Amino acid sequence: MLGLMQQQNLLISDMIEFAEKHHGDTEIISRRVEGDIHRSNWAKIGARSRQVANALDGWHVPAGARVATLAWNGYRHLELYFGVSGSGRVLHTLNPRLHPEQVVWIVNHAEDSVLCFDMTFLPIVKNIHSHCPTVKHWVAMCDADKLPADSGIPELVSYEAWMSSQSNSYAWPELDENTASCMCYTSGTTGNPKAAVYSHRSTLLHAYACALPDVMCLSARDSVLPVVPMFHVNAWGIPYSAAMVGCKLVFPGPALDGKSVYELLETEKVTLAAGVPTVWQMLLGHLKAGSLRFNYLKRTVIGGSACPPAMIQAFNDEYGVEVLHAWGMTELSPLGTLCTLKNKHLELAPDEQMKIRLKQGRAIFGIDFKIVDDQGAEQPNDGKAYGDLLVKGPWVIREYFKQEGPSPLVDGWFPTGDVATVDPEGFMQITDRSKDVIKSGGEWISSIDVENIAMAHPDVAMAACIGMPHPKWDERPVVVVVKKPGCTLSSDDLLKFYDGKIAKWQAPDDVVFVDAIPLGATGKMLKTRLREQLAGYRLPSL
Ligand code: ADP
Repeated sequence: MLGLMQQQNLLISDMIEFAEKHHGDTEIISRRVEGDIHRSNWAKIGARSRQVANALDGWHVPAGARVATLAWNGYRHLELYFGVSGSGRVLHTLNPRLHPEQVVWIVNHAEDSVLCFDMTFLPIVKNIHSHCPTVKHWVAMCDADKLPADSGIPELVSYEAWMSSQSNSYAWPELDENTASCMCYTSGTTGNPKAAVYSHRSTLLHAYACALPDVMCLSARDSVLPVVPMFHVNAWGIPYSAAMVGCKLVFPGPALDGKSVYELLETEKVTLAAGVPTVWQMLLGHLKAGSLRFNYLKRTVIGGSACPPAMIQAFNDEYGVEVLHAWGMTELSPLGTLCTLKNKHLELAPDEQMKIRLKQGRAIFGIDFKIVDDQGAEQPNDGKAYGDLLVKGPWVIREYFKQEGPSPLVDGWFPTGDVATVDPEGFMQITDRSKDVIKSGGEWISSIDVENIAMAHPDVAMAACIGMPHPKWDERPVVVVVKKPGCTLSSDDLLKFYDGKIAKWQAPDDVVFVDAIPLGATGKMLKTRLREQLAGYRLPSL
């Protein structure tokens, strides 16, 4: 017997229609590349995304064609999110922080037909356009009068001249919900970039999950500032969840420094912000320097790499902001787990609570995970056993775009490349990326644990732990540290700081001070590069 309910495809166009109809006057604020603050709302975003759809029809861009963006977080980017996917094309968000050669490789691999870019990225586009034969149309995301006359880019049009003269009436097509909606390349910290291709259905289900109370707890009463870029796994899905609940969105544009972000958090009464730890470091620095407070911010989602305990503590204890530690990856749209305490944890002492908050969190309904050993045998959820983390669910990839060779799945599970523990309450903790694990005397040392302790030292600005070859132990951990300006921290001081905080054999053998740790295009530490930089290094005991 079949259910007797209406059959309706889950489509991205439904989200923007809903936001427009029920939350039309809720504001969408953007700091623009020009520096000014632009004010829009869901009604205008809806109307303008239909104009984008008409403009793409005008160019006869076929269904399924890739429309790429090289853009900051802002209202025009949001209009493209809905206009491109809603009309049956595939939005492809490019990461402008990649090397231009990598951008060219990705554009050609994706076979992008249209490329829309913020004026900040004009130099990149000038550099690459002649190497991108599939791109038929280049759109500068600016007003008509800001279009450079001599860019050298063939038939360059301004976004406003292209779309704002179009009709804002458009009937969104009734697509199959499994139609591709957007695509995103992994940032390549682990090899050649590979693309996840999301569908309308996966995006919509992920958006529902993000909004849940034990996840980001989004509601129409929120004002949300995604510092995480819209080119980094769709700003963790926030634009879609925001449309689904009709909350206010505040976009920081190119200004990600502490002062600019703080200004927006206050003036736009932001209640939830989301970003990687490196961004929050700048914000906390700004607050501390000016003895400032948050008057509205209640929650902050921190993910993309492990959130240091010192950061959770600073937000929580000094500023009264709840940190939601999240884990995910491009292949998961990206959210996999998020750490919120259960009722019984609220009675625990602050130290005990902190041990839980440091974990990457519990599964969100829709994502199932397990940890397995090298032979694929499932490991116990005792909070101690380590294993490769495997996941499955309706917003996890089945295969990559233009997959070569067999599917990455193992018996239907996607191997994340992360190593984790899971405790009896189901809280998962990443100990490492499988290739960053340090193997010493047959045991594993978590580089994240070693880094977190260093980061808790008041003189340390950034720390990366890597394994160095050792004839007896295989590898020994070394911590590479950037000191805070003006600090005189010595290696011995920092090594002593590990006493009592970690087993002796897990503590680093040495400290290497550097001016900067190389960061990848998504703000994560590039340990491969760091290892290359330390190629001539020898452990002090050798
Ligand atoms: P890339 O593989 O290009 O770095 P992603 O940006 O998708 O691509 O990164 C996903 C990876 O980032 C995860 O597999 C994991 O290693 C790491 N990661 C994400 N969130 C966290 C977190 N909260 N703690 C530790 N590691 C994290």
